Amino acid sequence: MKQINIAIDGYSSCGKSTTARFLAKSLAYVFIDSGAMYRAVTWYLQQAQIHYTDTPGIIKALSEIHLAFLPVPESELPLIHLNGECVETYIRHPSVSNEVSEYSTVKEIREVLVHQQQLIGKNGGVVMDGRDIGTVVFPEAELKIFLTADLDIRVKRRALELKAKATEMSEADIRANLLHRDFVDMNRQESPLRKAEDAIEIDTSHLIIEEQVLKVKALAEKIILAGSTENLVNS
Ligand code: C5P
Repeated sequence: MKQINIAIDGYSSCGKSTTARFLAKSLAYVFIDSGAMYRAVTWYLQQAQIHYTDTPGIIKALSEIHLAFLPVPESELPLIHLNGECVETYIRHPSVSNEVSEYSTVKEIREVLVHQQQLIGKNGGVVMDGRDIGTVVFPEAELKIFLTADLDIRVKRRALELKAKATEMSEADIRANLLHRDFVDMNRQESPLRKAEDAIEIDTSHLIIEEQVLKVKALAEKIILAGSTENLVNS
């Protein structure tokens, strides 16, 4: 069966990672949360007190950073590791959320991460979520999805997510953070967040996660099946 790449992009807290995770599981594909990679680099640079405007410092630090998604006993899914340490908990902290978009404007960081993401997807079979997956990382992806949702609903979803992780952040702060990140992500010079021309837009405001996954899975299966019949015809 043909293995395709599926790009899921969109604004912050529209359910991209959750959709991508469940979809990858049901197709037996690899799930990559590209935001976790930007968060991990941000966390490392903050720890090293390297500001996002310090380009030489960032270039040097990038040569010291090794990222990998590795299995951990307490999680069903591989989690992001930085130089061998699982950093999943640190990278979800508000201090990282507050600056990750600024670090993500840095061309040198994007070049390194995009290269790693392209290597992971070179043989297909990947569901990757982020901001530039359909436009820059996998412009040839067989299926591109662009998720949107009402701001109020996104705030509520993020609040629930943080509560589950016992992280305190008021709804007002969450709203400000989502708006800030979307603004910086859409207006940066390097690969800004935008819907690829051939992406299918899905508004998730009134969908539950199962519905979101089923919608995308139906689209994916259509493409996978069509690809397989094409292979049969051509062989
Ligand atoms: O997906 P998540 O919200 O965890 O991503 C955190 C931040 O990482 C985004 O707000 C964005 O600034 C950056 N990012 C990016 N390109 C991606 C994925 C994430 O610039 N492909």
